Amino acid sequence: MKIRTLAAGLLVGALTLTACGKEGAPSGGTGDTGTDAAALPTYTVAQNVDVAGSPTFAKIKGAGKLTIGVKDDQPGLGLKDPTTGKFQGFDIEIAKMVAAGLGFDESKITFTTVDSAAREAAITNGNVDYYVGTYTITDKRKTQVSFAGPYFMAGQDLLVRKDDTSITGPETLKGKKVCSVTGSTPIQRVRDQQLTEAGNIVEFQKYSQCVEKLITKEVDAVTTDDAILKGFAAQDPDNLKVVGKTFSQEPYGIGLPRDDAALRGKVDDLLQAAIDDGTWQKIYDATLGKSGSAATPPAIQRY
Ligand code: GLU
Repeated sequence: MKIRTLAAGLLVGALTLTACGKEGAPSGGTGDTGTDAAALPTYTVAQNVDVAGSPTFAKIKGAGKLTIGVKDDQPGLGLKDPTTGKFQGFDIEIAKMVAAGLGFDESKITFTTVDSAAREAAITNGNVDYYVGTYTITDKRKTQVSFAGPYFMAGQDLLVRKDDTSITGPETLKGKKVCSVTGSTPIQRVRDQQLTEAGNIVEFQKYSQCVEKLITKEVDAVTTDDAILKGFAAQDPDNLKVVGKTFSQEPYGIGLPRDDAALRGKVDDLLQAAIDDGTWQKIYDATLGKSGSAATPPAIQRY
């Protein structure tokens, strides 16, 4: 049992490619990346785009390239293949679709990993031109950045070990070690609602670090959005399960500089067009919807 647990822990590690025995599999027990690359749509690169009054657009147009902040360890959403260096997932496709609508093909994009706690700074410093990475739209964050969208609706849930029958929802977490990520809305909710004792909250920069600790039994639950947790569970279905009772609404937005209302309006237009012409659905079906669960896009909220 001990050896099996250890081995499972190693499989989640990013550097154990060969250990999982599947060539090219980025990480995880089964090597399930959460993306069906062959089923992804292609995006028509718009010509002669202008976004009047957008400082961000003026900058990227002048440079002829752009930098997009993303996650790199979230299967089905934003996952970096350590072999090829390529990113894939629902958020990555939304990011590419928007870039194409702004006139940039994939070769002009630099994806850069920005974890939850560093997002506002990366956007306000101009280190990224926009950000697409399971980024919940909140009023607090709107004091520093702005959001196009939402383009997806997630909800906070719990990931536990498969054989755990004691954790069945947020009200069963007292006395349990609960892991989440610094600067995220789920860890804030655990604190605000005192779902477990302060000393039982474990935090890291990345969700994959929490998942490693869950497998090695150093924590009892990982909490964040259901969309993220389902991806980890699909990578290691023998050891992990999602409880499946969401207890928040997490509308995902594209993070933009706060003063750039012109770009926000343009990105909202591009999201709306992708919803209307079926591109959104194709992206969803090839990524998060691969498991067969249906979803519809939320209404864009312009402000
Ligand atoms: N959607 C939540 C948030 O924005 C959790 C996922 C994440 O940390 O990216 O904080």
